[in-house]
Amino acid sequence: MSLHLLIPAAGEGARLGSDLPKALVPLAGRPLLSFTVSAFESIPFLRSVVLARPGREAAFSSVVGRRHPVRTGGSTRAESVALGIAALDPGPRDLVVIHDAARPFVTAEEIGRVIDAADQCGAAIAVIPVADTLKQWDGEWILGTLDRERIVAAATPQVFRAEVLRRALEAPPGTDEAARCEAAGIQVAAVPVSRLAFKITYPEDLAIAEAIARNLTPLPPLHVERGNVEDR
Ligand code: C5P
Repeated sequence: MSLHLLIPAAGEGARLGSDLPKALVPLAGRPLLSFTVSAFESIPFLRSVVLARPGREAAFSSVVGRRHPVRTGGSTRAESVALGIAALDPGPRDLVVIHDAARPFVTAEEIGRVIDAADQCGAAIAVIPVADTLKQWDGEWILGTLDRERIVAAATPQVFRAEVLRRALEAPPGTDEAARCEAAGIQVAAVPVSRLAFKITYPEDLAIAEAIARNLTPLPPLHVERGNVEDR
């Protein structure tokens, strides 16, 4: 069994309100995508592919370096994932790890747990516990309260045995690959991860991500002029 990594990164980031593609937006002075690929550095992938915003392939390549080939993404996430699978061409028993570029703070330990679960049962996804009380509404009025204990937010990585994924992708596109497994009657294991695996979507997410990124990146050494310390 080999591991393949597929990073859909072709989103334009319209909800973020930025001129740059979302994956290239800076966090603590580095492109968001560079944080995302760092999380996978210690994992031995046979092949990987990053799906880039059309026309921005060169900029994406300069961020991810030689280790991750860059291909042109599609006009939806599902299309980008399909293009990535075609490029990877995994064997039927291989595992495909799909991870949104927009979730830069997932950890190697979390990725490992989702891979292990998928290795055992064929399909597994990261999930984030929900903190808020969740309501149904009609856009104006509250219609009811959902049972929070029975709800989680789907995150990534989402990991699938390639033969399972190919079967799931025959179902109509959803907002993630797990939804297509559910539609195809394939059971998906849920692996709880930290809320730091959140997806950067809105401008306020970027402010939170910036603070986290600053914490992760060692600050440059404090520049003290010779003699300054004694002078004080
Ligand atoms: O749009 P959203 O933020 O939900 O996208 C989730 C992930 O899918 C992001 O990493 C984004 O870059 C990627 N995506 C893609 N191709 C698209 C749209 C989104 O690879 N056409």
